[in-house]
Amino acid sequence: MHTDLVAALDIGGTKIAGALVDGDGSLLVRAQRPTPAREGAEAVMGAVDEVLGELMASPLWGRARSVGIGSAGPVDAAAGTVSPVNVPGWRDFPLVERVHKTAGGLSVALVGDGVAMTAAEHWLGAARGYDNALCLVVSTGVGGGLVLGGTLRPGPSGNAGHIGHISVDLDGDPCPCGARGCVEGIASGPNIARRALENGWRPGPDGDATAAAVAVAARAGDPVA
Ligand SMILES: [Zn+2]
Repeated sequence: MHTDLVAALDIGGTKIAGALVDGDGSLLVRAQRPTPAREGAEAVMGAVDEVLGELMASPLWGRARSVGIGSAGPVDAAAGTVSPVNVPGWRDFPLVERVHKTAGGLSVALVGDGVAMTAAEHWLGAARGYDNALCLVVSTGVGGGLVLGGTLRPGPSGNAGHIGHISVDLDGDPCPCGARGCVEGIASGPNIARRALENGWRPGPDGDATAAAVAVAARAGDPVA
């Protein structure tokens, strides 16, 4: 059969999403599970397998020629492993090998999620037509990726442009990555709200529902987006 589709996996600290995507970037089949981020390695992989299982149950699965993974970082694209800061159960987890096995032997490509997002923005989104771009995502974390000279530049490890764990305050708060004062610790969605609350901001009495929801999520330590 004609293999004109790609299976895509987006692995984040909040959710694991999958899709079968055609050559125009249209998502023909979608699946999603929450990430059991506080559980062990196999529980997280179980959620990945469920997402893949749902895609594989589609009659379109036979048209998939490979699997592309964008994962929360850091990743090691050369080794095929991931160690997402927000998924402590996965440290040097052999994600490529495991997905290859579940997906019936299809080839698997891995990059950091910021790099994957940048590839998409360059192909179909805000960076279309530009030869040089730094694309940023601000969510549970802060990620990014680079297009230089018209080409996506993931770097040898697949993490180039991942600015969330650059230290911008050497005496700042400790970060789960081991450094201090990381961009992500200051500028991710939950941390923007946390810092605002610590500095005396309160959502107004009839205030903005989004701001209030952000504040509640920040207090609970939950991801905002
Ligand atoms: Zn950090």
